[in-house]
Amino acid sequence: PFEVLIVGGGPAGAAAAVYAARKGIRTGVVAERFGGQVLDTMAIENFISVRHTEGPKLAGALEAHVRDYEVEIMNAQAATRLETVAGGFQLTLASGAQLEAASVILSTGARWRKMGVPGEETYLNKGVAFCPHCDGPLFKGKAIAVIGGGNSGVEAAIDLAGLVAHVTLIEYDQQLRADDVLQRKLRSLKNVTILTSAKTTEVKGDGRRVTGLVYEDRASGESRELGLEGIFVQIGLVPNTDWLKGTVDLSPRGEIIVDAHGATSLRGVFAAGDCTTTPYKQIVIAAGDGAKASLAAFDHLIRASAP
Ligand code: FAD
Repeated sequence: PFEVLIVGGGPAGAAAAVYAARKGIRTGVVAERFGGQVLDTMAIENFISVRHTEGPKLAGALEAHVRDYEVEIMNAQAATRLETVAGGFQLTLASGAQLEAASVILSTGARWRKMGVPGEETYLNKGVAFCPHCDGPLFKGKAIAVIGGGNSGVEAAIDLAGLVAHVTLIEYDQQLRADDVLQRKLRSLKNVTILTSAKTTEVKGDGRRVTGLVYEDRASGESRELGLEGIFVQIGLVPNTDWLKGTVDLSPRGEIIVDAHGATSLRGVFAAGDCTTTPYKQIVIAAGDGAKASLAAFDHLIRASAP
């Protein structure tokens, strides 16, 4: 059996694996797709000390760093069930295989909810973006739209309004759902237009980059087109934790509830990165959390194995 079994091979899982392996304990990583969300992006300019890199390059570097150590990587394998057994835990994979471990680190990440309209996939990373902290500076001086009038959408619009030329906030409902204080701040900004009852129906582009979007004015039923260079989709970040319902405590949004050590409600099970309640979903934060969860798992193991 493994001493530490990590589920997820993004920045959080990779950091956890390096930290565990450096303690000389038997470490395994099960990942559906080693690299995680990092594989889905190009320019990364905020992983501190790395001035500029690209998603696939950073994903390769994460894997190479883990492979420097004796870590068993089980890639292209999805975990479907976690159970407590004598002496630790049993993890079941979609293939039917079962693995045993004295401690587990969950780092299954999250995924941004997409609009599901024509053009969105075509122009991912070519004008369609999800993370204002990551990609905001790429749109300096340009006109953009933010889709979604909840807290994250309104926060993104306020943040981006300080960088870009103009922001159109598009909300499907008749009113914004963000906190009042955020709405007041948003309405005080001169370069922001708010459209409510507006349903985005298409992302337009010239084959290379986004050039605009089409929305339906739900009051009149009319279709309208907006010319712009960027679209930030802010309609939710969904943690990959469905399979953990009933095993560890989850927040109402489905995030694994962790304490300052990354401990979950189940003793011996830790969690790190975007799948947890830790705020601000970023590579540097996920990696730091992964290191922390791994050190906490090690602390747990030395106590659990004391005579
Ligand atoms: P993830 O990267 O999501 O990794 C999760 C891992 O778990 C993957 O290996 C996945 O395959 C695996 N997994 C999931 N479910 C299972 C399962 N049941 N069984 C086994 N394995 C499973 N952040 C920045 O800091 N800077 C940026 O510039 C930046 N740009 C971004 C651009 C895009 C387009 C996106 C989508 C995100 C961006 N982010 C950026 C956010 C950043 O990628 C995430 O915060 C970070 O990857 C989270 O790391 P993680 O390890 O927690 O999860």
